[in-house]
Amino acid sequence: MSSAQDKPYDYVIKDALVFDGKSLVPVQRDLAILGDRVAQIGEIPREEGEEIIEASGLIASPGFIDIHTHSDFNPFVYANLGNKVLQGVTTEVIGNCGMSAAPVEGAFAGEIANVWKREGVDIPKEISWKTFEEYKSEAEFQGLETNLAGLVGHGNLRFAVMGKDTRPARTDEIEAIKKSLNQALAEGALGISFGLTYLPGVFAATEELVSLCGEAARQNRICVFHMRGEGKKLLESIDEVIDVARTTRAKVHISHLKAAGEKNWPKIQEAFLKIESAKAEGLQVTADAYPYSASFAELGVILPDSLYQDPDRNSRFKDPKARKKIIQTLEAHYQDNPVSWDRIRVATVASEKNSAWQEKSLLEISQASKKSPVETLIDLLAEEEFGVSAFYFSQSESVVNQVLSKPYVAVGSDSIADGSVSPHPRAYGTFPRLLSQCRGKGPVLSNTCWGETIRRMTGFPAEILGLKGRGKIGTSLYADLVLFDPEVIRDTADYQSLKAPPEGIRWVFVNGKPVVREGKYQPVHSGLFLVPEK
Ligand SMILES: [Zn+2]
Repeated sequence: MSSAQDKPYDYVIKDALVFDGKSLVPVQRDLAILGDRVAQIGEIPREEGEEIIEASGLIASPGFIDIHTHSDFNPFVYANLGNKVLQGVTTEVIGNCGMSAAPVEGAFAGEIANVWKREGVDIPKEISWKTFEEYKSEAEFQGLETNLAGLVGHGNLRFAVMGKDTRPARTDEIEAIKKSLNQALAEGALGISFGLTYLPGVFAATEELVSLCGEAARQNRICVFHMRGEGKKLLESIDEVIDVARTTRAKVHISHLKAAGEKNWPKIQEAFLKIESAKAEGLQVTADAYPYSASFAELGVILPDSLYQDPDRNSRFKDPKARKKIIQTLEAHYQDNPVSWDRIRVATVASEKNSAWQEKSLLEISQASKKSPVETLIDLLAEEEFGVSAFYFSQSESVVNQVLSKPYVAVGSDSIADGSVSPHPRAYGTFPRLLSQCRGKGPVLSNTCWGETIRRMTGFPAEILGLKGRGKIGTSLYADLVLFDPEVIRDTADYQSLKAPPEGIRWVFVNGKPVVREGKYQPVHSGLFLVPEK
């Protein structure tokens, strides 16, 4: 519709400090939005906008790209959560850690609910899609709060071909997995993600990774790794990823780079050296991290491999005779590999029965139930059939900060945005938390912290993923934008108050539509499903 009174632009943003997603220093400019694009940057008269936003003193940044999330089912189950856009996130990357919502082929159809349950996510009862393409259109049909871009989970593909088989894949099986990978890539997946500590990724030999990443490399798509180990096996695990990159020339990306467990904190320096020398060699290695010292994962992963990977684990853990033996094995295992039971806090349980233990540490639960921590652990896993997730307070704040200061580390919340039970505070605070660390380092104009932090939340992840026209502010590029107050921005969610929204984010636009208006969430759903450009 048009009329004589129509103004040339939908929005004119006046006098913002504009960071374009690349430069370290801002320029003071006006921005005009028309439709889904930034239409002009420069001096723009107020009369030219239907709506004027006075942005003097505010930073204008490209919308943040959350490169690591597990929001795959959000459009179906948590449509109006708002937790990401309230942080300034305009694009979420899903399908991480070897698990995605699609494809759902073969035997995986009977497994997908369990995979997500152990992370604390209830998926819809009916899944109406099989392929990545079908998922993509179903998700768009539901309406997207942020843009989504998806990796395809290696676990989905492997399970469809091999079911619960606990062995390396044969050549013909690798070929079958490769075929499904190709289909998903052709349908717009960004690349493949591996979950090498989880079932079934844990059984994939390096040859399988090489084969699949070779295929991704041929199509210039990325290989993303939740590595085999992040503590004791951190360095060997980084070597494996770099070897895959060297053999295949694939772009490789390490998810949630960290050193877990106090004994392993010093290893982070060598981890940096390994990555930096691989980059110097010409390999494309990047990583992501979140600014919190607690991680979140299913509780079962603290078991030794032989128990975690046992296909009959549910029945064995419940059988009184086997239980006795498991207790002995575990007591010995944790003698050699000490665990701080007070640093593991239960987050979610699958059934009502144990819901009282949510937010309690294993030590607290064991004291309250008068059992040893090992007994507490196996009884909880048995009763919940492994459907238990936990916070692990196993990282050092200083290591986390060192990781996040590296130029090759993008920002990924690793959030599971769960509307009903306790999420990690990173689901509500990641981006403002990191930005708030730039305050107090001098004026915005001369303090490169803002520009570098913004770059690693915007232009850099867009480049890693091959998302053209996103992560930058420029004329005729998509209007994914954030306006925030550098004097105010901060996170408020913590481990007690998990769902508290951040402060200081004033306006957020997704494809030209305000999804946060003067600090208030708008359930607009203007997101699109993004696919990499050829
Ligand atoms: Zn992961």
